[in-house]
Amino acid sequence: MRVDAEGLVGWGEAPALPEPTYTAEYAAGAAAVLADHLVPRWFRTQRERPAGDLLERIDRAFADIEGHRMARSGLITALLDAHLRGAERSLAAFLGASTEQVDAGLALGLADNVDRLVGSIGDAQAAGYRRVKFKVAPGREPWVIAVRDAFPGLNIAVDANGAYDASRDGVDALRSLDPLGLDYIEQPLAADDLAGHARVAERLRTPLCLDEAVETTADLDTVAALSAARVLNVKAARCGGPVAALRLARRARAGGLGVFCGGMVETGVGRAASVALAATPPFTLTGDLTPTSRFFDIDVVDDGFVIRDGTIAVPSRPGLGVEVDDGAVRRFATSSVAVRSGD
Ligand code: MG
Repeated sequence: MRVDAEGLVGWGEAPALPEPTYTAEYAAGAAAVLADHLVPRWFRTQRERPAGDLLERIDRAFADIEGHRMARSGLITALLDAHLRGAERSLAAFLGASTEQVDAGLALGLADNVDRLVGSIGDAQAAGYRRVKFKVAPGREPWVIAVRDAFPGLNIAVDANGAYDASRDGVDALRSLDPLGLDYIEQPLAADDLAGHARVAERLRTPLCLDEAVETTADLDTVAALSAARVLNVKAARCGGPVAALRLARRARAGGLGVFCGGMVETGVGRAASVALAATPPFTLTGDLTPTSRFFDIDVVDDGFVIRDGTIAVPSRPGLGVEVDDGAVRRFATSSVAVRSGD
């Protein structure tokens, strides 16, 4: 989404999927909540108290909205992008980034067969990725063993997207991965089953990582109280924008969790925010950060990111640090809505 404010333009992305299957949020819902609720609240805040700290105004504007964090992230990122372009400051600097490159890490979807999976991971290793994560599901544990056998020295993690349960069979299947030295097993159970994750974590040597289970600091505090995870996947979009995500990451690190930056299927707009976030100190582990050419033949930005020596350069230009091609956005858009102050 694009914001135009006092001669400045800013971009953000709400990378919700077309259907509410991975998260409750979905693309058409995100568009509706932006147009009907979030943007009008921002205009009201601007009318009532136009001056003052931007982050304070953002927090105040959306304080009474429940959930819809991807939609919120799109608007907040666009507001930050416009503001930081005006201030000639990069988002990375604004967030307190401590590095100019972040490690590239790959997250692969559920493969059709084990040979294809091993082949894809070989390609990833050749491309320089420093960690490869792939989807796992009940019954696919032998595939993980095959990958480990093929790549004994590679940093490997698996993500179950909630496909297991905390039954004895489920736990035994996960325990069969323990000898493989995986970096972590991500989100084995359903997102709302924190008690189940705590029971599973107790039985595993492999660190347990949570992703979609943690959106807020309250979720994180529950995870800490239950010892339900040792690693946290923080995504700017899932957490309501890069600033909220950074707050969550800091709190997780302070509690002793390893933290990495995840990503959605996102254009260079969303990826720029993710890479800037990943460059800040709480992010200690390799994230799910790839060039956007993995998702799109043509991106809407001038820089879809590339891997050099296993790393991705953190944008240093003002704002998100990428230039958006309006023509490409128009060409790929399936619908558009304009909301103006005073409408
Ligand atoms: Mg995940």
